[in-house]
Amino acid sequence: MFGQISNPLKIPIKISGTFGELRNTHFHSGIDIKTQGKQGIKVFSIKDGKIKRIRVSKVGFGKTIYMEHADGTTSVYGHLKKFSKEIEQLVKKTQYEKKSYEVEIYPKKNTYIFKSGTLIGYSGNTGSSSGPHLHFEIRDTKTNYPINPMKILKNVTDTLKPKIDNLYLYNVNKKGKYFPIKKIKLKKVKSNLYLADTIKNIGMLGIGIKYYDKQDISYSKNGAYSINFKINNNTIFNYKMDTISLYDKRYLKLLVDFENWYLNKNKIQKLFIHPKSKYRFMKKNNNSGIINVEENKFYFGEIEIKDYSGNKSQIKLIIKGTYHDSIQKSTIINNIKSNFDYTFESKNIKVEFKKNTFFNDTFIPFNFQNDTLDLGKNIHPIDKKFKIFFNVKDLDSLSVAKGFISKINDRGRAEYIGTKKLKNTWSISTNQIGKYTLSLDTTPPKIHPLNFKESDLIRNIKTLRLRVKDNLSGIKKINATINNTWVLFEHEPKNNLITYDLSDIKFNSNKHELEIIVIDKLENRRIYKTTVYRNK
Ligand SMILES: [Zn+2]
Repeated sequence: MFGQISNPLKIPIKISGTFGELRNTHFHSGIDIKTQGKQGIKVFSIKDGKIKRIRVSKVGFGKTIYMEHADGTTSVYGHLKKFSKEIEQLVKKTQYEKKSYEVEIYPKKNTYIFKSGTLIGYSGNTGSSSGPHLHFEIRDTKTNYPINPMKILKNVTDTLKPKIDNLYLYNVNKKGKYFPIKKIKLKKVKSNLYLADTIKNIGMLGIGIKYYDKQDISYSKNGAYSINFKINNNTIFNYKMDTISLYDKRYLKLLVDFENWYLNKNKIQKLFIHPKSKYRFMKKNNNSGIINVEENKFYFGEIEIKDYSGNKSQIKLIIKGTYHDSIQKSTIINNIKSNFDYTFESKNIKVEFKKNTFFNDTFIPFNFQNDTLDLGKNIHPIDKKFKIFFNVKDLDSLSVAKGFISKINDRGRAEYIGTKKLKNTWSISTNQIGKYTLSLDTTPPKIHPLNFKESDLIRNIKTLRLRVKDNLSGIKKINATINNTWVLFEHEPKNNLITYDLSDIKFNSNKHELEIIVIDKLENRRIYKTTVYRNK
């Protein structure tokens, strides 16, 4: 009806990231397709359509194409190395006009219309990507809701079943707070069937699970397509990853064992939900996942995890209503009730929690010593950012210019945070519980060439590549000229790399005077000048 559908890549489709899988900050809004460990695999439009948006970013999806189709969907192609010739010309032209590597382009109507199966770009690793792959999405154009792209992909091989590592038992209260009780041992009795040790407990209980799914030949650990949890043959927790909302991530932290996931990197997903959570992929009615276990009663449970191709694994469990396992209930008295505003204040510091910052009543220690604020470990999911204020009345002028509020990370190192500087008070907005202090950045970025030297005669290279690095606050701006003409350096912060394509501009003289100014977020600047020569 709307023209043929073709795969975005012409190589065998192997998945390294599934739709909806739980990442640290979001539900994965598309699928990641492997590109044979390399960049530069041709990427094709999947249907007839027009290019709606092109984005070049140092983070996120890097170089991305958004293509709109007549059937009400939009396809998205991310982390590209470069665009096809026609699109690349438009992007370069815009970058030179705006003198910026990062651009966002909405082409005029009725331009950049392509048939299904047209080459639109080359796969890469740009933006926040940890290895070469294509991030591919389908969205509903009107609502912008991502849809599971597996529906339209052809020839995806997957015969492996999801693998279950462990189950975990929790005590849960009505407000969604949960307390870990123990790990439940599993016995694998068939390739797709696990039996859990009998659970002996009583009261409101919830189950957590650690699992992953694997696709054929691809070694990535992926998320599942659907999970169904039944107790005594009634479904108590269920979802299917057919479509999600980009806003679901607000409640992501409530679907995982937060402390284990973020602090211990033990990725346990909960099979019970928090009363304040909301997800597009999950109906909430009668779907709490909480089992109210009464004394002397038996509960027969069945958890079924499926991948998109229908491969499934099953766990059977029995809960016996009896006092047995100890419950480690928290004895800490909460000092923050989630529905009130709080301000903690000491000599040169103030912390403000607005109401509903936390999903639950919480205990937050407040220590201010040796100019460092310590709010304890980051073990509480936070819904809204909170504010930290430092009084900076007595700072000298250098500190005023080059200072900022930093977060002390787990390794004891200061991390830059964008700081609002008003006269005597500096402040930040953050959603991270942790340690904060004042830091100073007076060191300009470092820069050095990688594939050429001063006064080199450049013969066989197509690009100028330099390493650019900043020690603390990070690079804010790169401004480069050759013979006083602005030139585009592509910037990949994760590789500390900047690259100029020598074919961008034809200069009249063989002598190229290159000047690169690199500025960090505290305005420390490094000016790098060199001369290179090119043969005609
Ligand atoms: Zn992705």
